[in-house]
Amino acid sequence: MCYEITFLSASLRVSGPEILTFGSIRPTCGGMAIRRILTIDNAADLAVLKRISVPVEGGVTPELRTLMDDMLETMYAAPGIGLAAVQIGDTRRVIVMDLGDGVVEGDVQAVGDAGEAADEQARRNPRYFVNPEIVWASDELFTYEEGCLSVPEVFDAVERPARIRLRYLDYHGQSVEEEVEGLYAVCIQHEMDHLEGVLFIDHLSRLKRDRAVAKVKKAARLAA
Ligand code: ZN
Repeated sequence: MCYEITFLSASLRVSGPEILTFGSIRPTCGGMAIRRILTIDNAADLAVLKRISVPVEGGVTPELRTLMDDMLETMYAAPGIGLAAVQIGDTRRVIVMDLGDGVVEGDVQAVGDAGEAADEQARRNPRYFVNPEIVWASDELFTYEEGCLSVPEVFDAVERPARIRLRYLDYHGQSVEEEVEGLYAVCIQHEMDHLEGVLFIDHLSRLKRDRAVAKVKKAARLAA
């Protein structure tokens, strides 16, 4: 059966550790849904983005997989390489990522647009993180120019540990522990910040942060 539920922004008044889902529409019949990404120019969105996400209880259920499927589809459509659930208004500790580092098998060097599309699909490598934790971080730091789907059009350098050891549940609910570095380490730390209500611009100087906020607000005004 097809149905549609739109939660009202009134649920923003809810306080405490309960799970918050608002502004989401699920008009689907089993397919994935592209959800609205919250952005900092909207005061109600910002209030949600500042919330601390709550641990997922009871493992990875079909409902949680649907959320992760929707998050991935939303991220691909944006397009982006990482997304935390809070960015679509669900304050559970869930992250999806795709760095486009999938192994390309077979001949995908077809000609024209179709070939390029096939190539992009082939390189997809979706990753899913439920209740991620950093169990170790290197003293060595790494600087990367970061951007964020919730802070559109703003990019700036952020310094973070170069290598980290991660523990999380994957899409199938299996516990995984792995050491990561490079863009993977940058991206997962950026996304895990979202679970603490922290945006990458919070790592910048007050001056740069104020400029970034002004830029996003101006862009939103012009687009309205
Ligand atoms: Zn972000």
